Amino acid sequence: MSKIVPAEKVEEYQNRFMEGLKRRNPGETEFHQAVYEVIQSVFPYIADKPRYHEKQILERMAEPDRVIIFRVCWEDDEGNIRVNRGYRIQNNNAIGPYKGGLRFHPSVTLSVLKFLAFEQTFKNSLTGLPLGGGKGGADFNPKGKSDNEVMRFCQAFMNELHHHIGPNLDVPAGDIGVGAREIGYLFGQYKNLTHQYVGVLTGKGLEYGGSLIRTEATGYGAVYMMENMLASRNDTFEGKTCLVSGSGNVATYAVEKINHLGGKAVTLSDSGGYIHDPDGIDAEKLAWVVNLKNVKRGRISEYVDEFKGATFHAGKRPWEVPCDLAFPCATQNEISVDEAKTLLKNGCTGVSEGANMPTEQDGIHAFIDAKILFAPSKAANAGGVAVSGLEMSQNSARIHWSEDELQRLLSETMKGIHDKCVQYGREDDGYVNYLKGANIAGFVKVADAMLAYGVV
Ligand code: NDP
Repeated sequence: MSKIVPAEKVEEYQNRFMEGLKRRNPGETEFHQAVYEVIQSVFPYIADKPRYHEKQILERMAEPDRVIIFRVCWEDDEGNIRVNRGYRIQNNNAIGPYKGGLRFHPSVTLSVLKFLAFEQTFKNSLTGLPLGGGKGGADFNPKGKSDNEVMRFCQAFMNELHHHIGPNLDVPAGDIGVGAREIGYLFGQYKNLTHQYVGVLTGKGLEYGGSLIRTEATGYGAVYMMENMLASRNDTFEGKTCLVSGSGNVATYAVEKINHLGGKAVTLSDSGGYIHDPDGIDAEKLAWVVNLKNVKRGRISEYVDEFKGATFHAGKRPWEVPCDLAFPCATQNEISVDEAKTLLKNGCTGVSEGANMPTEQDGIHAFIDAKILFAPSKAANAGGVAVSGLEMSQNSARIHWSEDELQRLLSETMKGIHDKCVQYGREDDGYVNYLKGANIAGFVKVADAMLAYGVV
């Protein structure tokens, strides 16, 4: 692209950009999807700003700084040798050290982690904190493994990863399949290998450098985002029926915050199906779910044996249940276009994405065309990484902030993200396209930093 691009040529340039991206990254469909989602907002924005396209800023952002792939070799409880593949994608460190979670799940591929690292770059920029974008993980399945097996896997994974991370270089955290237990094993091994006690991971236990409300922050943040969007239409959570998918870290704290704000969460799910509790998943039921998932490591289907009146729907997702608001908090591409249309038909007026890229492209278009409140993941779930950033600050300064202080900072951060989306996303008719707003606001800060560095 050169100079000013006329509006009628923008689509042609976008298509050419995507052709090049697909040629260089064959078969990486999730990565293609994530990049396409961003460029649809950013290309029209930069068309009359030659400083960005003459310096190939988008092309550079869509090419990770570094991709590290390694073998992870460990021994199971029967003495068998197991081999998994580990990854760390260091996407962009223009505004701070690489930062992003580790995912342990059999579905992990290079494409999935490249999409997540790309998204993370924009998300971290939106928080206003000095954090670059990265992501990592392995195709290891912690389900059904003993604590000792998980520990041996984490230690083997860190044996290689520790060469590539550091408190000013790259600071991983948790994601799907990586919770408090795994972070403990990973941090223990890092410390053992390097003889250093530094803030190299976030999501740590409170006893060894973790921050209050880090565990809760992603789920709470997705609900705060919705609260801000509702307020922009003079509305609140009061009396609203909410669907939540997933039953892990993000989902459970989303339910807790929905309840606090006067809404009623009626579903949770896992890869086996979803439960529907029309009476609402109150604090007592939620505590039971957290214990089921984190201690017993059970399945959500067990909920209906414990709580009468609830039903389990095997192999299905919750989006068929009539609702006011929806919070996808499980995984990518968990709302298809048909499910998006079902949500709209049944009266859903707001979606806040706790998970990363949970809605398929055409589903997003359906929400935006219907002009409902739609918060994309890079805005809605940024609360987690924001509190991770605050954990890094506390580690560097060797201090601990109080829960009240951190709650205030999280709520202010989500308000700030909301307002940036409004600034860049308001359409001529007054509708706020939060997707466009998040993409452009996230882009501008990273792009301006890259321009300042010259061609490196
Ligand atoms: P957890 O591992 O704690 O929970 C994941 C939940 O999603 C589980 O209930 C799991 O069910 C379900 N799930 C996973 N894969 C699938 C699938 N293919 N189909 C249906 N259900 C599935 O992960 P988190 O709660 O931490 O993460 C959830 C989402 O939020 C992810 O997209 C993650 O990237 C995103 N996120 C997380 C952040 C964090 O701070 N933890 C920060 C920002 C984003 P099952 O047990 O059956 O696998």
